[in-house]
Parts: sequence; C-alpha cells; structure tokens
Amino acid sequence: MTMPITDAFNRPLRDLRISVTDRCNFRCVYCMPKEVFGASYPFLARQELLTFEEIARLAGIFTAHGVTKLRLTGGEPLVRRDLEVLVGMLTELPGVDDIALTTNGSLLSLKKAQALAAAGLRRITISLDSLDEATFQAMNDVGFPVSKVLAAIDNALAAGLEPVKIDMVVKRGVNEHSILPMAEHFRHTGIILRFIEFMDVGTTNGWRMEDVVTAEEILDTINERWPIEAVAPNYRGEVADRYRYLDGGGEIGIIASVTVPFCGDCTRARLSADGQLYTCLFGTRSHDFRSLLRSGADDAEISAFLQAVWRVRDDRYSEIRSAQTIHLKKVEMSRIGG
Ligand code: SAM
Ligand code: SF4
Ligand code: SF4
Repeated sequence: MTMPITDAFNRPLRDLRISVTDRCNFRCVYCMPKEVFGASYPFLARQELLTFEEIARLAGIFTAHGVTKLRLTGGEPLVRRDLEVLVGMLTELPGVDDIALTTNGSLLSLKKAQALAAAGLRRITISLDSLDEATFQAMNDVGFPVSKVLAAIDNALAAGLEPVKIDMVVKRGVNEHSILPMAEHFRHTGIILRFIEFMDVGTTNGWRMEDVVTAEEILDTINERWPIEAVAPNYRGEVADRYRYLDGGGEIGIIASVTVPFCGDCTRARLSADGQLYTCLFGTRSHDFRSLLRSGADDAEISAFLQAVWRVRDDRYSEIRSAQTIHLKKVEMSRIGG
C-alpha cells in the first residue's frame, strides 16, 4: 500500500533521481572542470557505492511513499557496468510508472540501447551542447566528437527509447551561437530539444550570473527565426516549460531554473552514488541512507527515516538565490546528477 508523504510546503515526494556513479569520461566545463576533477580527485571507491540490490531496496521504499518516476544519472551512468541489470530490478518495483536515463551518450552503442530498452527503460535524455565540433569539444573538454553523440541518438531511436530528449546547457560566450543550429537540426525529427540555463550547482564551475543566457533570450532568439507558442505542461511540476513551433516543426523545452524558479512544485529527491539523500539540487547537507542500510536496518526503520527527512523539507534554493547563497558549500552536480 502506498503511503504518500508531503514536505513542509505540502509538496509530495514523486520523483527519485538516482546517481549510480560520481565518475565521468567527460570534463564538461560547467560540471566537472578539469582543474578540479583531475587525477588526484577523490572519487568514491567501489565499496562506497551502493550496490544494485541496495539501490533497488531503497527505491522500493521510496515508491511505497509515492515515488512513481525514477531517473538514473551520474556522473556518467553508463560507466557503471551492466546498468541494464539495475533497470530490470527497478522495473519490477510496484508503483513505478516511468524509468528514465540521462547520459552523455558516449557509451550508448546500439547493443547497450537495446539492452536498456529490453530491461524496461522507457525514456532517455542525451546531453549535447553544440553541433559545432570545436565548441562541443571545448565544452566536454576531452575532445569527444559530435558525430558519436549523434550516433548514440540514432541508437536510442533504433532501440525504441522514444521520445528522445536532448539537453543543451547554454553558457554565454561559449555556445549561444549554437542555439539556432541545434534547433534547426532537431526540428521535424520528433526529438525534443531542451535548453538549460547554466546553473550555480556545486562550488567548482566558476558560475557567474553574467554567464547565464536566460530562458527569455533563448526563446526570443528562436521565436525570431521560427515563431513558437507555449504549450500546457504535461503534469504539475514539470521542470521544462514547453513550446511548439507554429509551423509544425515540433516541440522544444526550456529549463529556466535560474530566472524562473520552480521550487513551489519541486517533488524531487536525489540519491547520490554513495547513498546520501539530497532534498535539493543545491543541497548543503545530506541524509545518510547507506549507513542505515548497512547497519542492518529493516524496511520500517528506513521508511521512518525517509518520512522524517521529507516531512521537514523546506528547500527552495532557486527562489532565495542571492550573492550569499552562491558561495555556500553545495554538493557537486557530478555527485547527484541534475
Ligand atoms: N553525465 C550525464 C549527462 O551529462 O547527461 C548525466 C549527469 S549530468 C550531471 C546531468 C545533466 O546536468 C546534463 O544534461 C548536464 O548538461 C547538466 N548540467 C551539469 N552541470 C550543469 C550546470 N552547471 N548547469 C546546468 N546544467 C548542468
Ligand atoms: Fe559528465 Fe554529465 Fe557532468 Fe558532463 S555534465 S561532466 S557528461 S556528468
Ligand atoms: Fe527543487 Fe531545490 Fe531546484 Fe528548488 S532549487 S526546484 S527545491 S531542487
């Protein structure tokens, strides 16, 4: 039986984002800058990571409290071996009606995409910041070519992981010239391109408000070229605002978490690869579910801990962002996965 819980602002717990690793084969400048995430960076050791069994057990307890949507993320989730095994375990959980994956696409072969789909993955989001080779390689900072991400998108489509969504972080002076080429490329394809405002997640990406290309600027740029209109959200609390091209070119999304905060509808919890629960993307503290799990706690004890954490949740970082909050010691995006 499901026992829904609500937080201090009456927001239910609906989504769980599960990071399966803090490692990544990219060094995106806005997420894992090379200078910080170098050879001596203290990544988690294998035994610190939750096992698939531990993840599935926790996810089962979360679904019993109202979670219906699961998203696997990272770091780069596909660097975790046999991820489809975890997908299969999560698919079995009662109450789960959506399992999605966010990936940089670098390891998404056709075989992998088919294995994930066969295990029960429903949807996939692939990150791609530019079609321009020099720009993309400067952003992923490991020289990864655009063509391989485009091949990953084809693999996802061939495996039936539809709709495919593409996430593009826009950073001023870096890739705003790619907005129109990206829009053009994905128009009329059924693939939904979503533009994300550069966010002040963590403390290592040198975020400055001046570097944020606002949702309004992005929309104006597109609207001038191909007129668009707003579309009603699919459900309450949807993160991306939806728009469609008036000429029938399809749909785009905008994630305006900096300029148009959506904390009021935020129903998401985030579990790090080492079993720490964050109740906000900009979390400064976490709740240690791994210790509880490994101390031999039974489901009722874990459930009581989750209820205690969620009932007092009062996060609304994006609504109260200020010159001061930017410098708080916040968790890195590569730990909890956006
Ligand atoms: N490695 C996978 C990927 O890149 O898709 C999954 C993890 S990544 C942290 C999840 C998403 O967060 C990606 O779409 C990435 O572009 C986005 N992201 C990372 N840092 C960001 C930032 N500072 N502002 C906005 N989005 C960011
Ligand atoms: Fe890796 Fe994703 Fe972060 Fe880029 S955004 S460094 S691909 S985790
Ligand atoms: Fe949710 Fe925190 Fe983002 Fe607000 S700032 S929408 S509470 S994750």
